[in-house]
Amino acid sequence: MQNVYLDYSATTPTDPEVLAVMTPYFTEVFGNPSSVYSLAAKSRAAIEKARGQVATAIGAKPDEIFFTSSGTEADNWALKGTFEKLRSKGNHIITTKIEHHAILHTTDYLEKTDGAAITYLPVDSEGKISIEDLKAATTDKTILVSVMFANNEIGTIQPVKAIGEFCREKGILFHTDAVQAAAQIPVDVGYLKIDMMSLSAHKMYGPKGTGVFYLRSGVKLENFVHGGGQEKGRRASTENIAGIVGMGDAIERMKARQPQYQANLIRLRDRLIDGVMKSVPHTKLNGAVGSERLPNNTNFSFIGIEGETLLLDLDSKGISASTGSACTSGSLDPSHVLMAIGLSHELAHGSLRMTLGHGTTDEHVDYVLSVLPEIVAKRRSMSPVWEDFLKKNGGK
Ligand code: PLP
Repeated sequence: MQNVYLDYSATTPTDPEVLAVMTPYFTEVFGNPSSVYSLAAKSRAAIEKARGQVATAIGAKPDEIFFTSSGTEADNWALKGTFEKLRSKGNHIITTKIEHHAILHTTDYLEKTDGAAITYLPVDSEGKISIEDLKAATTDKTILVSVMFANNEIGTIQPVKAIGEFCREKGILFHTDAVQAAAQIPVDVGYLKIDMMSLSAHKMYGPKGTGVFYLRSGVKLENFVHGGGQEKGRRASTENIAGIVGMGDAIERMKARQPQYQANLIRLRDRLIDGVMKSVPHTKLNGAVGSERLPNNTNFSFIGIEGETLLLDLDSKGISASTGSACTSGSLDPSHVLMAIGLSHELAHGSLRMTLGHGTTDEHVDYVLSVLPEIVAKRRSMSPVWEDFLKKNGGK
C-alpha cells in the first residue's frame, strides 16, 4: 500500500528548508522585538525582512503588509475593520455564496449583531460570479466588495481584475481572500487593483498559525487587535517571529519555484481528472476547466456515493483526501459551494476533492486510479440512491 497525501488545499507540510530558516527564532534569536537591546533588534530585523519578502511576492510595499495569526484573522479584519470604519457612510457589503466560512460566518455576524446588509452574489455552474450581477447589486450604501480569488473546494478562479477595476472606478473597497490562490498562481495587488487581501502561510509550505493582511496604503480601516504597539498598533500582540520568518521565506521560495511547479501540477491534475472521468462512470467534474481552475485542484461528484464513506475507504488504502466541504464540525449539510453551483443534494453529498502539491507524483496518480474505480463500484452496489439512478437510466 502507498501513502498518498492529496489534501494540499487543507494544509501543506512545512518545507524543511523553511523550517531550518525559522528554527533559530525559537531558541537563539528569541528577543521580544519591542525591547531595546541588540537581541531584540535582530528579531525586529527578521520581521522586517519577512515583510519585504511578502511585499515583493505580491507587488506591494512593505508598509502595506500586516502579519496576523491566520487567513481567517485577515478575513475578519477586512470585513469588521471596514464595516466599523465606514458604517456611517453605508452598511452594504457584497460577497458571494461560495466564500470560505471565514468570510460567511463574519458577514452573518455583522448582519445579525451590527446591522450590516449583505448581498451574496450567485455563481454559475462552474462557480464564477458575473460582473453584471456585481454591478446590479451595488448601491450608494455599498462600502465593500469581498470576493475570493479562487475557491478552496472547486478551485474556480474569479475575474479578479474586472472586479478590482469596477470597484476602484466606483470608489468601493475591494477585498479578496487569496488564501488558496496566492499559493498557486501569480497575484499582483497593484495590477489587479486590490485594496485588501488575505494570505495564509500553511497553504504554501510555511507554518500553521501565520497569516498576512495586505492593506493598500491610504485605505482607512479600524485596527483589529487592541493592545501594544505591534504592527503599527493596528494588530497588537507580541509577534510570532518564527512564524513570520517562515511566512516570508515560504512565499519567496514559492514565487521562485512557481512557474516550474505550476506546469507540473497542471499536468498531474489533468491526468488525474482524465483518468477519473474515464474509469468511473457517471462522474461529474465540479468547477471550471483549464486556466480558470487552480493548478492543484480536482473535485468530483459520484452519484450514489456518500463522500464521507469514500474518504474512509480511501484512507484504508493510504490515500488522504477530502470531500471539500467544511464537514469539520461533523455537520451533515451538503457543501454550500456545491449547492451554489446547482448540484442536487445527492451529487453534493457524493463529492471528492483531491488537491495536489509538491510531493505529488505520477505514481500517486496511477495508484489513485488503480483503487478509486473499485471503491466507487463497491459502494454503489450497496446504495439505494444508485439503484434508483440505474432504474431511471434503464439499468446503465
Ligand atoms: N480562506 C480560504 C479560501 C481557505 O481555504 C482557508 C483555509 O482553508 C482560509 C480562508 C482560512 O485560513 P487559515 O487556516 O489560515 O485560517
